[in-house]
Amino acid sequence: METVKRRNTVVLLRSLILFSLFLLVWLFSMASFVKPRGPHSERRSCLANLKQMDGAKEQWALENKKPAGSPVVGHESEITKFLRGGDLPLCPDGGKYSLEPIGANPECSLDLPNHTL
Ligand SMILES: [Zn+2]
Repeated sequence: METVKRRNTVVLLRSLILFSLFLLVWLFSMASFVKPRGPHSERRSCLANLKQMDGAKEQWALENKKPAGSPVVGHESEITKFLRGGDLPLCPDGGKYSLEPIGANPECSLDLPNHTL
């Protein structure tokens, strides 16, 4: 009777250890799926920013009947009204944006493949 009890305890302990191991593995696998959330979790790619700014520029030009080649300097605050959030986006890698005249693509100061339209 005593040995049966001891065997039961050993089986119970083994299953507890196995269960906790599975739990640990599961927790670690879940942790790798969950993306970190923070103030920069919604940052967009530079290319997406450039496309958004180009769209905002074109909308502004249409609404204000600005022909191609019109400078946008001094009208940034009007153009940003067409942007989500109402502000010029920031390059995720620290580049500086220049809107460029109407008809020309906005540019990022970083000369990298994903930083040009
Ligand atoms: Zn950039």
